[in-house]
Amino acid sequence: MDIKQFDQEYIASTYSRLDLLLVKGQGSLCYDEKGKEYIDLGAGVAVNSFGFADSVWLAAVTRQLGRLQHACNYYYSEPQAILAEKLCTRTGFQKVFFSNSGAEANECAIKAARKYGQDHYGETRPNIVTLINSFHGRTIATLAATGQESMHRYFGPFPPGFLYAPANDIAAMETLLADGSVCAVMMELVQGEGGVNVLDTAYIQAVADLCAKNDVLLMVDEVQTGNGRTGALYAYMHYDIRPDIVTTAKGLGGGLPIGATMLGAKLENTLTTGTHGSTFGGNPVSAAGAVTILDRLTDKLMEEVREKSAYIKAGLSGAKGVKSVSGLGLMLGIETEKDAHALMEACMRQGVLVLVAKDRVRLVPALTIPFPQLTKAVDILKAEIER
Ligand SMILES: *Cc1c(COP(=O)(O)O)cnc(C)c1O
Repeated sequence: MDIKQFDQEYIASTYSRLDLLLVKGQGSLCYDEKGKEYIDLGAGVAVNSFGFADSVWLAAVTRQLGRLQHACNYYYSEPQAILAEKLCTRTGFQKVFFSNSGAEANECAIKAARKYGQDHYGETRPNIVTLINSFHGRTIATLAATGQESMHRYFGPFPPGFLYAPANDIAAMETLLADGSVCAVMMELVQGEGGVNVLDTAYIQAVADLCAKNDVLLMVDEVQTGNGRTGALYAYMHYDIRPDIVTTAKGLGGGLPIGATMLGAKLENTLTTGTHGSTFGGNPVSAAGAVTILDRLTDKLMEEVREKSAYIKAGLSGAKGVKSVSGLGLMLGIETEKDAHALMEACMRQGVLVLVAKDRVRLVPALTIPFPQLTKAVDILKAEIER
């Protein structure tokens, strides 16, 4: 059986796969079918927060798997209730809706924002402002929300009601909010897929103020930046702001699918019975794993994330062939003279897995990657950049 051939023949060709078949992993190390070892700086796109086969996560997941692998949302089940309580307690949000992915978490946010608008302002506030160069998902609505022209080909007509603002331009945002047609602003604080662009602090705070003043909901897409990725539990916590909605997914489940839409005080009673739902949402196995992730996102771990970030930045900024290093915590983008895709392939041959975002090499390793593996991988990446 030739796995690569089966894949190419029978799986829709939406991915341009690298020539690598992964079969197992432990921590931040993983192995192909020939036993070759790789140091993983991608963590399955910021998903495996504690690496592969983390023992605490694995024990919780396997225990739950043997007890109750799924219970539809007709019934109560323990893991999602515990996870919801922990998420709300640690963030100050009032309610959580669970789904299975980032796109679904954002769909829920979009629905909640529209309903909030209708509940309070009738049909006058259908619009949601997102930022140019953002990424919010691949469903039709979240594609419409995504502020990239190139993503708006092929699949129209898209649902109306999305307006796009250039990032870091508060005057443009003021103009879009001026006619009173906007119910919410949705943005990433670090644009991940858009190339690891950190928004300006002053801009983030000004948007938050503007939203509060106009009763426009501030929705922060933390699908990628959430769950410790940037060196804070959620990235908004760096900025002294209080969003009305925070969405998250990727790293929350530690490798199993789960999405969460956290709703603040204004939205506590917006999503009423029957207005939203999900068959798999809040799956007990995913939620049991997520509880073990959240429990270990401690201040001490956040400090380690910031230390590792500083180490990578210091090692690569100003190095030969590096134009710039952007990002926050363990979500970093490296702009290089060499082509990022070529570097990704070269690193892979040398036993290091990195990702790409736009024209940048993207590093989103497990938060717990051991320093010796990190230093070795950064040395290899640096050598490939310089070569
Ligand atoms: C990955 C990502 C999404 C989409 O998440 P999926 O789980 O692939 O649906 C949405 N928003 C941001 C910011 C992301 O990084």
